[in-house]
Amino acid sequence: MDKTHPDLLVPPHILVALIHLTIGGEWQTDYMEQEQMTTHLVTCQLCRSALIGLLSIMQEYERRNVSSETSAHDILTQFVTIDQKIAAVEAEQMRS
Ligand SMILES: [Zn+2]
Repeated sequence: MDKTHPDLLVPPHILVALIHLTIGGEWQTDYMEQEQMTTHLVTCQLCRSALIGLLSIMQEYERRNVSSETSAHDILTQFVTIDQKIAAVEAEQMRS
């Protein structure tokens, strides 16, 4: 029987990294890491949902703490556009 809740805290999932990036405020990754994360996000709906959830929480947090330097809104905007990429990939798979 499949696990009802896949463990997002172990590879290949990137939830731990996402938490560091968002709540941890360490939005400083090199290009390779960003590429790997984007690649995983494109293929993994679970991590994508988790990321959007995390960023939503962060955005709400920032609204109440205006001194925060990280712009969750910018990050959220950046990653929401990944959905468009995913839609394109899925459309491609449907055709083949
Ligand atoms: Zn994942």
